[in-house]
Amino acid sequence: MQKECPSCATEIEDGAPVCPICGYEFARTKGSIKWVALILVLLFIWPLIRLLIDLCTR
Ligand SMILES: [Zn+2]
Repeated sequence: MQKECPSCATEIEDGAPVCPICGYEFARTKGSIKWVALILVLLFIWPLIRLLIDLCTR
């Protein structure tokens, strides 16, 4: 599959993170950073949730 670069309108490979013609960076990397951030937040919050459950059931 191919996608069109929004900066220079060149057809490039769908998996490419950066346009080889003009160097335009695609938003895909930002999306994965968002997921990593979400997982990190969940990892930080999870012990607190368990602590609250433990306190409530005591
Ligand atoms: Zn481009």
